[in-house]
Amino acid sequence: MTRPREVDVLVVGAGLAGLHAATLLARRGHDVLLAERRPTLTGAVRTTGIFVRKTLDDFPLPADCLGPPIRRVVLYPPDRRRPVTLDSDRDEFRVGDMGGLYLAAAGEATDAGVRIALATRYTGRRDGLCLLTGPGGPTEVRARFVVGADGARSAVARDLGLDRNRHLLVGAEEVFPVPAGDRPPTFSCVIDPSLAPGYLAWVVDDGRHAHVGVAGYPDRFPAGLRAALDRFAATAPGLAGVKRPADVERRGGPIPVGGLLRRIGGADGLLVGDAAGAVSPLTAGGLDPCLRLSEHAADVLDRALRTGPAALTAYDGAALRARFRGRLLLRHGLAQVRTPAAAAAGFALLRTPPGRAVARRVLFGDRSFPEPAPGAVGARIG
Ligand SMILES: Cc1cc2nc3c(=O)[nH]c(=O)nc-3n(C[C@H](O)[C@H](O)[C@H](O)COP(=O)(O)OP(=O)(O)OC[C@H]3O[C@@H](n4cnc5c(N)ncnc54)[C@H](O)[C@@H]3O)c2cc1C
Repeated sequence: MTRPREVDVLVVGAGLAGLHAATLLARRGHDVLLAERRPTLTGAVRTTGIFVRKTLDDFPLPADCLGPPIRRVVLYPPDRRRPVTLDSDRDEFRVGDMGGLYLAAAGEATDAGVRIALATRYTGRRDGLCLLTGPGGPTEVRARFVVGADGARSAVARDLGLDRNRHLLVGAEEVFPVPAGDRPPTFSCVIDPSLAPGYLAWVVDDGRHAHVGVAGYPDRFPAGLRAALDRFAATAPGLAGVKRPADVERRGGPIPVGGLLRRIGGADGLLVGDAAGAVSPLTAGGLDPCLRLSEHAADVLDRALRTGPAALTAYDGAALRARFRGRLLLRHGLAQVRTPAAAAAGFALLRTPPGRAVARRVLFGDRSFPEPAPGAVGARIG
C-alpha cells in the first residue's frame, strides 16, 4: 500500500448530509475527501424525497429537481372508508428528483474543492488511519477529523465509539411515472397496523410520479416488508385511473426513529444525518434534519480545525435531543397502535375539530429540527 493520504476531513457517505457538510467545510478552505460506496449518485436511492415547506423556504434546492407543490393530504383508516382530507392554503410538500438533487449537490461540492471518490467504501480504522477500498484497491487516509454520514447503520459511529441507532423502522416503495391529469397533487396515508405496523403506508401522486410505499417495525410485518408492499400496491388509494407499469423503480432502507443520538461527536470526528439519528421520530422525515445538522457540524468542525478538538464538545446530541421529547412521546403512542380496531378508534378522534387541528399541526406546522442553544458555535441553524 502507498503512503497514507492526508486530508483535513474525511466524509464517509454522499447522501444529502455528507454532501452538504463536505461542501460547507470546503467553502471554508478545508481539504475534504468524500468517500461514497455507490458507483453513481443516481443509483440505489433510499428515500421518497418529500421535502417540507420549511426546508424549501430555507435551502436553495434547484427548482428543476423538484416536483409540483402538494397542498392536500388524505388520511385513510384501515377500512379506507370516510378518509380525512386536509387542505392547506400553502404549498406544503414537493417531491425531489433525488438523482438530480444528489448530482447538483455533488457539483456544488466539487466546485467548492471537495474531492469525491465514488465506488469507494470505508472499511474501518486502524492506528488512527481510515481504510478505504475503491476501484484502485485499498488505500489509507489520515484525516484530522472523520464525518460519519454513512446512514442509519453507521460503521463510522461504531469505529469512533459513538452512539448507534437501535430504534429503526424499515421502509420500501415503488416509484413510477404517471400521466398528468386533473388529479390534485396529493399525499395519501393509510394508517393500518396490519399493513404498516407502527407507521403508515403512503401514496404520493404529484402528477409526474407516484410513490407507493409502506414502512413499519421490521419484526411486526406478518409476512415481511416486501409482501406488505405488494399487498398495498395492489389496492393503493388515490391512484384512480393510473395504471401501474410492469417495470417500477424500487427503493427502501432503514429509518432511525429513536431520536437524535446523545453521543454524536468525539475527539476524532462526528456524525451527521441518519448516522446521528437526525430523523423526526414522529413523521420519519430526515431530509430537513440532515441538512440542518450538517450546518451545525460544519460550524463545529471549522472551529475544531482552527482551534483543536476541544471545540467538538459543542456538538452535543444530548442537549438537542431534549427538544425531541414531544415527538418521541407521539412516536411511542403510534407504536402502541397494534390493531386495525385501535387505528379505527384513533380515526374517531381525528375526525373531531381538535383531532384535525393536531393533524394539521403535525403535517403543515412550522416545526423543524431544533436549533442548537445560543452560543453553541456560531449557532447558524434555522
Ligand atoms: C423508504 C424511505 C423513504 C423516506 N422518505 C423520506 C421523505 O420522503 N422525506 C424525508 O424527509 N425523509 C425520508 N426518509 C428519510 C430520509 O431519506 C433520510 O433521513 C435521509 O435521506 C438521510 O440522509 P443521509 O445523507 O444521512 O443518509 P443516506 O442518504 O442514507 O446516505 C448515506 C450514504 O452513505 C453511503 N455509505 C454507507 N456506508 C458506507 C461506507 N461504508 N462507505 C462509503 N459510503 C457509505 C451510502 O451509500 C449512502 O449514499 C425516507 C427513508 C426511507 C428509508
